[in-house]
Amino acid sequence: MHAGVIAVQGDVSEHAAGLERAADAHGIDCEISEIRTSGLVSECDVLLMPGGESTTISRLLADEGIDTEIQAHVEAEKPLLATCAGLIVASRDANDERVQTLGVVDVTVDRNAFGRQADSFEAPLDIAGLDEPFPAVFIRAPVIDTVGEGVEILADWEGNPVAVRQGSIVATSFHPELTTDTRLHQLAFFADEPTLSRSEPQQ
Ligand code: GLN
Repeated sequence: MHAGVIAVQGDVSEHAAGLERAADAHGIDCEISEIRTSGLVSECDVLLMPGGESTTISRLLADEGIDTEIQAHVEAEKPLLATCAGLIVASRDANDERVQTLGVVDVTVDRNAFGRQADSFEAPLDIAGLDEPFPAVFIRAPVIDTVGEGVEILADWEGNPVAVRQGSIVATSFHPELTTDTRLHQLAFFADEPTLSRSEPQQ
């Protein structure tokens, strides 16, 4: 499997490590490319869009011409995991003109909605498809305010969706790459594989 981590800005290495652990758990060889320029996305079977700063990420994606490549990846129904700022950039509308959204996930988001209450927190989250709660780390996280028809809500927190699936895309407000729990990466990329188990990395 060839995976691309969008690496124009944000927590890239953590996602690459999370993906490697998830692939290992499924016995799958995974080559990972960090994507900072156009011309690479089309070679990738799966893509990750990490958290970071959505205004910066969206601007750099547009400057580099990677934005339309991600849209083409999704149109080809290839898997994408978008987290936190990645979700904001992937959304239909971020209610903020500084973010040029890609419109690949039919949700609208409120940037920093959680951040106004608490900068960062961890919560055990019930997620559809996982048998035990997931340790979800929220860092200045967006809230999903509206969800289009084709969007499945996988989890919510205090009444707002924080994880969704639409076709080949899984998007979360929180940061699954910041824990050793690989189930979210498994859900995004290996959902057809046998049962999702909570696999810890081998030390
Ligand atoms: N609040 C950030 C933004 O709006 C996202 C934070 C994150 O990715 N951890 O881009």
